[in-house]
Parts: sequence; structure tokens; C-alpha cells
Amino acid sequence: MSSEIEVVEDVQPLKQLDGVLANGNGYYGGGNNGVVGGFVDDESLRNDVYTVAAYGDLEKLQRLVEYEGRSLSEPDGLGYYALQWAALNNRTAAAQYIIEHGGDIHAADHNGQTALHWSAVRGAIQVADILLQEGARVHAADIYGYQVTHVATQYGQTAFLYHIVSKWNADPDIPDYSGRSPLHWAAYKGFADCIRLLLFLDADRGRQDKEGCTPLHWAAIKGNLEACTVLVQAGKKEDLMITDNSGLTPAQLASEKNHRQVAFFLGNARRLLEKRCDGNSRLGRLSKLSLAPVLLFIILVMLVTYTQSVITASNLPKLTAGFGLLAWMDVFLASAGLVMFYRCSSKDPGYIKMNALDPQNMKDSEPLLKIEINNPILLAGNWSQLCATCKIVRPLRAKHCSTCDRCVEQFDHHCPWVSNCIGKRNKWDFFLFLVLEVSAMLSTGAVAITRIVTDPLAPSSFFHGLTMLLLITLVL
Ligand SMILES: [Zn+2]
Ligand SMILES: [Zn+2]
Repeated sequence: MSSEIEVVEDVQPLKQLDGVLANGNGYYGGGNNGVVGGFVDDESLRNDVYTVAAYGDLEKLQRLVEYEGRSLSEPDGLGYYALQWAALNNRTAAAQYIIEHGGDIHAADHNGQTALHWSAVRGAIQVADILLQEGARVHAADIYGYQVTHVATQYGQTAFLYHIVSKWNADPDIPDYSGRSPLHWAAYKGFADCIRLLLFLDADRGRQDKEGCTPLHWAAIKGNLEACTVLVQAGKKEDLMITDNSGLTPAQLASEKNHRQVAFFLGNARRLLEKRCDGNSRLGRLSKLSLAPVLLFIILVMLVTYTQSVITASNLPKLTAGFGLLAWMDVFLASAGLVMFYRCSSKDPGYIKMNALDPQNMKDSEPLLKIEINNPILLAGNWSQLCATCKIVRPLRAKHCSTCDRCVEQFDHHCPWVSNCIGKRNKWDFFLFLVLEVSAMLSTGAVAITRIVTDPLAPSSFFHGLTMLLLITLVL
């Protein structure tokens, strides 16, 4: 396995592109906008169309082309085109000018990469738009089968990926010549946001490349815990069982590579998902039923015991009117609490409508993302609000509950004691349930103690007192 991974790590075009980015002519040398390098003094470099295109110096570019007759269709010494350099650095005006003055939009370097591939490296959306408007092929592949979506995920350009898929119909799930989809690359590089977006776009989690590795295998090999978490949360039990060509599961690979946290996580995830998927077995049904009946039973037993052994007990002195009212008040509080308990566990906690199950959308052949193309949450780059399972962009404070397998608005937690999520629509019922039951417990406890203390036959009714003490302990 390890040798395969080394191969992966040495993927040539990436390396070469990296090389170009890091060293090639030094355009990337320093500065935050990449091209502000240390070549200001070097006249020969400053005056070629490639450097000028990379810097986006339109005036100089015009001068070089129109007065000095330089060509924009020839590659530089390393085989890269001026249009690629402009695309890499998002120089829209320069790119437009190059296209209008003889630059070939389809020109590919020795790796078969076009200017569009290069625009993806740093997420140059505006230049990509220009290139595509001018007729660049969005599905163009380089010699390794990388399309623009592969390059965007290799560099973690989620916004660029979103744009190119939603506006230009780029394929987010196309395998390269080694059978690796953009999801493989995102998992390998550990770009969790890219993974979220790709899963949202229905990328195939279970796709195996030529080595038999799924995206989860890759995330495990590299020890990318966040990537593993996102993949597992959106996945199924079977994803964890898939073995690669050497017969290893993602969890085994992680421990082989000494990524202990990831191996531990994947081992646990397997058990958790097994529980979740085991809905048909007796145990599965019981766990789904959760603890609500148990809690209901406890409250009812305590209520009955309190009424019989404390309020109406024949061996205790009669209650005074005021004290009796208080004692019965507690029964009322506890009963009102039970009503709240019922409302809380039976109500819809604020489930958000799933896109995936909407028959209208199912019929619609348009990609799901188109519905959300102008979603301000996505435009602001909040990719974690994409739910890959429900296929929605959830609002702020909403979360996906793994027990209910739905997104819940204003999600607080999933409460096993009420067998429901606590969210926007039942949080006040839950709060009232807690307040009512806690005050009933405190008050019944106080009433019970008072009854023991004021009982003239206290020493003889020792066992009775013991029962009540036990009751109090239970209550508190
Ligand atoms: Zn969800
Ligand atoms: Zn839930």
C-alpha cells in the first residue's frame, strides 16, 4: 500500500504545477497577490509578455504587442502560455486582451493543461468566466485526465468549484485517468469544505480508483480527521467496510499509517453506524424507542407513591387545608409537566424540509445546486451549512441530527429521555417540562420531609419514614 501512496504523492502534473507556482520564473515569489515578486530590477523578465500578463500590466502588454510585435500565441521557454499566466493570477483585463489579440483559448502546455485549468489553482472566478464565455471547454482534460473540477479540489478552491459547477455545468464527479474523482482529491488533501460541497452535489462516496481506494481510504491514509468525519457523517456503514486492492479498510489503513486518532474515530464510527442501521433488530427498535417510556414510567410511579404514601396515607395525621392544597398543587405541577413531556416528545422539533425527498425536485433534472445558486450563505463561503444528507443549505444554528437523520432548526440536542430532538418548535415545551418537574420534585420532597417531622408517631412508623426517605432520594 505504501508504495501506491508514494505514487499518489508524486502525481506529476501537480508537482510540476506546484513547481511552476513556486519557482517557475518566480511570479509566485512573494507578496500576497502572488506576482509581486523580486523581479522589478530584471528588465529582461519584466519585458516579456508572460511576466506582464502575470502581473496584469495591460498598458505594457499593449505596448509589447502593438509596438514591438510580440506574439501572444507562442509559449514561453517552459511551454506555458501568456493566457495561462493571466488566468493563474486572475488578471481579467489582460486575459481579455490576450484572447482578442491572438491568444488561443484552447492552447495546452506539455501537461495538456489549458488556461482554464490554471484559473482553478487560485480560484480565479472572473477569468474562468471570461474563458468560458469565449468558448473554453469546461470538460477539457489534461494528460492525467484532470478536468477543471479536479484542479479546483486539488487546491481547495471551494467557491470556484461551486461557481464552475453551478454556472457552467462542470462535472463534479468525473474520474481522472486513475479513476479518482474530485472527491478523492478533496479527501486526500483534507479540504473539508470541498468534500461537503461535493457530497451535496451527489458525488459518489463509494467510487474506487484503480487501487481500489475510496475517498475515505485516502482521507484515512493522510490522517485527515475532519475529512473522515464529514465523509462518515454523510455515509453509510458499508463505506467503512470497503477494502482496497490490498484488502484493507479505511480504519486498517489509518492504523497502519499510525494515524491513531483517525483509526480510533473510524473504529468507533463503525460501531455507531452499525447501531444506527440496525433499525430492524429488536435491539435497534429498542434504541430507537429510546428512554421516553422509562422516564414516563418513573414519573408515574413516583406520582402514585407520593399521592398514596404522603398525601392520603391513613397512618399519618390529617392534612391542614393550606398544607393539603400545597400537596395537591405538587400533583398538579407534575401532571402539567407530563403534558409538556408529551408535547415535547411528539412535536416536530423544527425539521427542515429535505430536498432529497421532495418529489418535485426529484422530477427536476436540474442540478440541486441551481436552486441555491444565489444563496447568500454560500456566497459568503459558509460551506459547513451544506447538508449532504438532506441536500439543503441549512440556516444558521440549524444542525443535522444523526439520530433522526434530519436537519433541525435551532438544534439544541437530541434528548434520549424524550426520544426527540430539542429544536426551534419544542424548546419551550422542553424548558417548561424541566421547570415544572423540577419544582414538583423540590416541593414534593419538602412536603414529604415536613410530614415525617410533624408526625407524632414518627418513631413507630420508622419503616414508613424510610420509604419516604427513599422516595425523596429518588426524587432528588
Ligand atoms: Zn441534514
Ligand atoms: Zn434527533
